[in-house]
Amino acid sequence: MIYFNKPFLTGKETHYIYEAVNSGKLSGNGLFTKKCQSFFEQKYAFKKALLTTSCTDALEMAAILANIEPGDELIVPSYTFVSSALAFVRQGAKIIFADSSAENPNIDTSTLESLITPKTKAIIAVHYAGIACNMEVLLELCKKYNLFLIEDAAQSIESYYIGNDGVKRPLGSIGHLAAFSFHETKNIISGEGGMLAINDERFSERAEIIWEKGTNRSQFFRGEVNKYGWVDTGSSFLPSEVIAAFLWAQLENIEQIQAKRIAIWETYHKGLNPLAQKGYLSTPFIPSYATNNAHMYYLVMNNASDRDALIAYLKEREVMPVFHYLSLHKSEYYKNKHDGRQLPQADRYSDCLLRLPFYYDLMIEEVEMIVHYIHQFFNNLK
Ligand SMILES: *Cc1c(COP(=O)(O)O)cnc(C)c1O
Repeated sequence: MIYFNKPFLTGKETHYIYEAVNSGKLSGNGLFTKKCQSFFEQKYAFKKALLTTSCTDALEMAAILANIEPGDELIVPSYTFVSSALAFVRQGAKIIFADSSAENPNIDTSTLESLITPKTKAIIAVHYAGIACNMEVLLELCKKYNLFLIEDAAQSIESYYIGNDGVKRPLGSIGHLAAFSFHETKNIISGEGGMLAINDERFSERAEIIWEKGTNRSQFFRGEVNKYGWVDTGSSFLPSEVIAAFLWAQLENIEQIQAKRIAIWETYHKGLNPLAQKGYLSTPFIPSYATNNAHMYYLVMNNASDRDALIAYLKEREVMPVFHYLSLHKSEYYKNKHDGRQLPQADRYSDCLLRLPFYYDLMIEEVEMIVHYIHQFFNNLK
């Protein structure tokens, strides 16, 4: 059986967890947390990085920091994970769902300006499959209308945006704030886990307070204030040292992890592109301004029945693909609050996209076998 996902362990996780346990400090913001945060700040030039218990939590922190209030409007793509919208809905925001682009599931920037009203407070850029959104256009719109740009960079570790000036900037370092995920289905994992990247220094001090239950505990321990107490809203957004220790083992091996994932991605792409050329399906489109971090390999079929038939065909051969993201504007929770606009591309990805098995331990021979099955599926159709 080839499962869809299998968490990769570097072998050092239990070693560092053992160290954390024996250090006598298990709560958050200890040695391993600081090591991970410095790693991210240095490698990706984030002004500040704070580990969180999930990407959802990091997005909730972003919603608090951006002062999202009832009546505010936020522009979010409909084809994304629930958290990209939910974290802001909890603060009372109204979500204006945007459609995806025809070339890949990222937000369609060509029609975005028409969604902006005087109530719009922020745009959420979700880099689907770790492939950058068109950041130049998003930055320009946010500047023109004075909006926050928040990156849902859950899938975007070690991926970059190449600007018109040719400069390569890490995803998560471009928006005012960005949220990453270390859920076990992502490239770098800690079971559940996430991070808030802060690129606008105006947020740095308050972010730390919100992170630690609305207290100025971090400032107190640095000796910057002489009393420690309740100063703002917040929650317990920080993970324990046990989680940070696990994450550290992964970060030490990020290059090895990425190299293998790229090899898997390339094998799928080379094997399946001939089918795309024949028009049987579409393979991922990576714009010239984006790099590929091999977060996932997806196919877009020409219709829902082909998609479902291919999933069934692969399952019969003990290969477990998945489909995902039911458009959020059609979700049980939000459909009555949606303004009724049709979002045809979001619906198309919802109906026609499937994700192939993708994890570090997947062997290249297994990838080739899956490619072979997909060719067979189309040969049988003819
Ligand atoms: C995985 C994912 C999330 C949620 O991450 P958690 O760490 O599980 O909260 C949010 N947005 C996107 C786009 C994701 O892929």
